[in-house]
Amino acid sequence: MGTNVNLTTDADGRVWYTETLHEGFRASYEVKEVVYDSNTPHQRLIVVDTVSFGRLMALDGVTQVTTADEYVYHEMLSHLPILAHGNVKDVLIIGGGDGGLAEEVLKHRSIQRLVMVEIDPGVIDFARTHWQALHQGCFDDPRFKLVVADGKDFAATSSDRFDIIVIDSTDPIGPSEVLFTKDFYTDCKRLLKPGGVLLTQNGVPFFQADELKNTVYNFARLFADAGCYLAVVPTYVGGFMALGWGTDNVALRNVPLAKLKARFAEASLKTLYYTPELHAAAFALPAFIAEVVEAGLREAGR
Ligand code: SAM
Repeated sequence: MGTNVNLTTDADGRVWYTETLHEGFRASYEVKEVVYDSNTPHQRLIVVDTVSFGRLMALDGVTQVTTADEYVYHEMLSHLPILAHGNVKDVLIIGGGDGGLAEEVLKHRSIQRLVMVEIDPGVIDFARTHWQALHQGCFDDPRFKLVVADGKDFAATSSDRFDIIVIDSTDPIGPSEVLFTKDFYTDCKRLLKPGGVLLTQNGVPFFQADELKNTVYNFARLFADAGCYLAVVPTYVGGFMALGWGTDNVALRNVPLAKLKARFAEASLKTLYYTPELHAAAFALPAFIAEVVEAGLREAGR
């Protein structure tokens, strides 16, 4: 395992998985068992059972999801937009091959159709076979439709329309790079029903400010409301994670708390992170992140 920077053995014989995403910074997790380590048609897939975070999936050396904290990201990218909107029937997820986000979306009885467009069958096959605890069998839900394709091509050619579109992608390196472009976002806007919302995973601004600024810049040229909201995912190291928000329905980010509470109760969801109060607070940004959003809006002439 010498040459393999992501899986190493220390002098005491302990195995470590190390994420190699940020310049000059690495996060390491002690490994109990290497469950899978191979190349899929698109990327290197590593899955390990760790001492501190349960099962962990990494793609090309970047941590994607862990059993210990997946609920944060998946609840905030599903319940927040769905309860803000209030009448979601059709959802599109681009990426999301682990099934964790789809599982949360399908908890809403109002959802009639969920289309997931994932480029890499290797990720889906692994999750489907070896990670039931994460997806809870959502791939077999009659409302669920899987399309194995590049999200860029799907968005450019589809004639479907959706209330919510979530880009649950890897970071803008490798196959996901195309999912952080003006053309792709423009195609996604075309697939939105009036008043619909486009959401993106935008990394951790402490390390990845340009990623957020780029998305806000593009959203500002497409939507009346362009910005982000926040969540804290322990394995996305660096503090707040930014979730991009683009919609023409400017009222959606300010739904009164009483209405959010009523919708949350009506949906009878059991959550570990999402609450209506946290929802209402999630759009409040620390100054350094507000400045990143402002910079994107300014560059777009807003
Ligand atoms: N929550 C994770 C994060 O924030 O880093 C993302 C998890 S999910 C596993 C990311 C998925 O995006 C992967 O399964 C990857 O194969 C998929 N993906 C990457 N590029 C894609 C593309 N161009 N079209 C569709 N799916 C893509």
